[in-house]
Amino acid sequence: ENNRRCTKASSSAGEIIDWENEWGSDCTLRVYSDSKCRNPKSAVDGRLISIKDNICTRDLPTTCASGILDKFTSPFNATIVDQLEAAGAVVAGKTNLDEFGMGSHSVHSRFGAVKNLRRDADGRDLSAGGSSGGSAVAVAADQCYAALGTDTGGSVRLPAAYTGTVGFKPSYGLLSRWGVVAYANSLDTVGILGKKTSSVRDVFSILNKHDARDPTNITSSSRSRILSHLQAPRLASRLTSSPLRIGVPLEYNISELTPSVRQAWLLSLAHLQEQGHTIHPVSLPATKHALSAYYVLAPAEASSNLAKYDGVRYGTRSDGPDSDGQPDGYLYANTRGNGFGAEVQRRILLGTFSLSADAMDNYFIQAQRVRRLVQQDFNAVFAAAHPFAAAAASDASGIDRSTAADVDVIVCPTAPSPPPRLSDVSAGSSPLDAYVNDVFTVPASLAGLPAISVPVTVAESEQNPDADEVAGIQVIGQYGDDELVMKVGELLE
Ligand code: GLN
Repeated sequence: ENNRRCTKASSSAGEIIDWENEWGSDCTLRVYSDSKCRNPKSAVDGRLISIKDNICTRDLPTTCASGILDKFTSPFNATIVDQLEAAGAVVAGKTNLDEFGMGSHSVHSRFGAVKNLRRDADGRDLSAGGSSGGSAVAVAADQCYAALGTDTGGSVRLPAAYTGTVGFKPSYGLLSRWGVVAYANSLDTVGILGKKTSSVRDVFSILNKHDARDPTNITSSSRSRILSHLQAPRLASRLTSSPLRIGVPLEYNISELTPSVRQAWLLSLAHLQEQGHTIHPVSLPATKHALSAYYVLAPAEASSNLAKYDGVRYGTRSDGPDSDGQPDGYLYANTRGNGFGAEVQRRILLGTFSLSADAMDNYFIQAQRVRRLVQQDFNAVFAAAHPFAAAAASDASGIDRSTAADVDVIVCPTAPSPPPRLSDVSAGSSPLDAYVNDVFTVPASLAGLPAISVPVTVAESEQNPDADEVAGIQVIGQYGDDELVMKVGELLE
């Protein structure tokens, strides 16, 4: 079955064996034939893994939920798909998303909106979050052991928070993006969703390897440099039992936080304190500009990436007057006008504008500066310096490490509110309302840091008094501190 795996290396016919079940309910099975059991190749051997449909698969179409890639099938697998299959995992299927990963509620899809399994008290549909909403629901519905998504500005963490699953965005550059359709290259990461942090870790350990085909992928020698830097004497004990210093960013305590999210945050901090960890307020002042900077940078990169969908080289081609021998130009306009959905067209226009000569200085360049400030904010509060910035360089950048709060991780909400009703976030509603949901996820994306969202149960649901409310709580760590981030996530599960 989907999520069960024989825990014995070999068995013979007629024998009764125990089977492991991820979520606790053990069962026994009678072995039918001698040849069924073998040594598992890895922790994901025989497991079903769902794949977001902007990740290339040779055997199934890759549509990015876009009309422009309707019926497109890649001639090759993404490296991460090959890595999973080599480890024995089975591709369960491709999952729905916001077109090209652009959205926060998985409503901008050629295939229709993704629905959360949870509903409000009146039985109305709720958002599953986006853009990896289909992957999150596949995990929540037990259709797979884990799922791959992509996280450019929160697309794995937000759906995890809304569906009560675990969503992990690794440090930028650790997981290969070869065969992953680009949205915004300087921000794009492959993320993993699972019911528990342990299943996310199983998948992460298979994929966390250098891939020479992805030029942004961290080389093996840099990987060992990062690890030896992070495991410097004072820090090595963090992965064992010593108390951790937990940072609480004051700027995340905004008035828009709903009571249940604030309660989940407080419960999480109290829980960590009970286990002997200490809580420290920290300030990340550039946070308030992070969202605006993200929504300049991501569309700018997207407008460039999506220029290749011209109806000539890829995917769907619309008929244009030029097909009757008319002047050029119509084929391109018709293909893109018919093929891209409204949100993608909006991003292309935004990005093209902010990269244009007159607007460049006021938008793109300013947003890059804000991005640098966001990175410096994080570096100023983490005990571990950024592995790629030598101590001297960080001094030169003006960060006074003597005033650093020296925290190991930051703990904050993943989203300001529980999942909204699908009818309130449908494709025609205000784009700004959707963008605001990313306010807590984009800072880690701008800085390339590892971040995980784990479900924390609070007593009462605001939307459905008959059900417990589950809010996503996010753990953010220094670049390369992925194991520590997963460890703290696990403490909160
Ligand atoms: N909601 C954000 C956006 O639309 C994040 C998307 C993502 O991480 N792929 O850009």
